[in-house]
Amino acid sequence: MTVNEKLDEIEARFDSDSAEEVIYAVPSMVKALRAVLEVHRDGGESQGYTKDGYGNIAHCCITCGSFGEYGEPYPCETVVAIIEALGGAE
Ligand SMILES: [Zn+2]
Repeated sequence: MTVNEKLDEIEARFDSDSAEEVIYAVPSMVKALRAVLEVHRDGGESQGYTKDGYGNIAHCCITCGSFGEYGEPYPCETVVAIIEALGGAE
């Protein structure tokens, strides 16, 4: 089963009229999001490119870009997608 097939299976539970089916899916979804957020976390300052050119960026993702030399600002696109899907966060 691919990850997308697994997500389809979990999503089908959300369409169920059974609250137990929905509740069953929640812990695994939260665990999956936490695992992704652990991979895409703030590593602090890095050099990298911004719209103003090359220089220090106060907060960079440890996975996206090349931390230290070509850092990607944190929150990266992956974290932003999660934040937006959750309805926002600080
Ligand atoms: Zn990232």
